[in-house]
Amino acid sequence: MPEPLVHFIIPFFVLVSVGVKPKRAAALAALAILPDFDVLIHTHRTFSHSFIVLLALCVPVLLSLRKLRPEWLEDAELATLCLLSHPFLDMFCYYTAVLWPLFDKSVWIYAEAFVNLSSLHVSFQFDVKLLSTGLEPPNIDVPMITSTGVGVALLLLAVMALCNLRARRAGGRRA
Ligand SMILES: [Zn+2]
Repeated sequence: MPEPLVHFIIPFFVLVSVGVKPKRAAALAALAILPDFDVLIHTHRTFSHSFIVLLALCVPVLLSLRKLRPEWLEDAELATLCLLSHPFLDMFCYYTAVLWPLFDKSVWIYAEAFVNLSSLHVSFQFDVKLLSTGLEPPNIDVPMITSTGVGVALLLLAVMALCNLRARRAGGRRA
């Protein structure tokens, strides 16, 4: 399941890729970690991971900003997308209550493919698994850092650094 580093680095990479400055992108992407602070109140992956709840919190803010502070609206929209990216990624890794309270089942979109190297037999499984949503904490270990997450983060940072270097070189040639 995605650890905080992965929840941060993916929206950060996307934001920088679409032209958001790295400092601003980092501040916005950090919001994608917030839903996992639900572990502090022992309700992991329940209401804090619901698209419905997150939208119910964000949409009134967006509507208010549209009238009162339109210059803040873009940041608020990007912040909302960063927040929503969290349950989106989680539901591909484990049961997540993405539609609570409208739907009282936690959803796990499960896909895997394996190939047997000696027979070259390929097996593929795709399933949408459902589990009753409870507000009690699931008895699972939650990774804080994994080697896969560190590898993905380093790779995405290297791509960003390379793109930045190429842009600077192109700018230098034009000057
Ligand atoms: Zn989570």
